[in-house]
Amino acid sequence: MPEPDDNSSDQYAPETMRARLAKVEERIQSACDRAGRDRDELTLIAVSKTHPPDAIKTLYDEGVGAFGASYVQEWDDKVDEVPDGIEWHFVGHLQSNKARDVVDRVAYVHSVDRRSVMKQLNKRTDSTVDVLLQINIAEQDSKSGVPPEELEGLIDVADDYPNLEIRGLMTLPPHAEDPEDNRDYFRRMRHLFDEASTLLAESDTHSRDGFEHLSMGMTNDFEVAIEEGATMIRLGTALFGPRDYD
Ligand SMILES: *Cc1c(COP(=O)(O)O)cnc(C)c1O
Repeated sequence: MPEPDDNSSDQYAPETMRARLAKVEERIQSACDRAGRDRDELTLIAVSKTHPPDAIKTLYDEGVGAFGASYVQEWDDKVDEVPDGIEWHFVGHLQSNKARDVVDRVAYVHSVDRRSVMKQLNKRTDSTVDVLLQINIAEQDSKSGVPPEELEGLIDVADDYPNLEIRGLMTLPPHAEDPEDNRDYFRRMRHLFDEASTLLAESDTHSRDGFEHLSMGMTNDFEVAIEEGATMIRLGTALFGPRDYD
């Protein structure tokens, strides 16, 4: 099998894609082994922004079932060219006026962090929407998500929106050259998860049944995230190679 070569102009060649996926699965398995966890507890989400439909199809044919979308327009432009069976996860920053373009097409919206988005998702769905609440765990100015101390308030706000099924928490920590730098953030996410679970048990509108996901871990830090309890990891570069935004 060829080594993944991220600098190759043929970064989407099927054999290159397969080699990257094999490597990723090996690393996931090792992290699960270290943490005493079962691979089945974990969903691998292939974050597809900027990558072409053929590359998505190659991964799908290799058994990757869940894909992430980040920008509504860019996703719309290619969604007709990829397999129907894909389970989509909206992981990008969501504007409330785009909620209608996302509901009923995705398995999960990972990036719910304010009333206006909750309100529109609640209103636009034909049934219910599975959502994760996004936490700005490092309280960075540049990031979406609520700071940890506002999670309780956000759960209160969600009481007004019964069509939302609150299924877990998501975070996007700082880019860390050394993944160990993010271990503490992931650990704090797990504590917040436990707190949120207690709050949901007391809610009149929502319940803690089905509150089971921690979406955390990207290319540079997914192994540490798995060790700290992630149930969904979101990988772009590790699976597709580098992104070209041109
Ligand atoms: C782009 C993106 C990812 C994937 O990032 P990589 O570092 O390429 O794995 C994951 N989550 C979100 C929210 C993203 O926008």
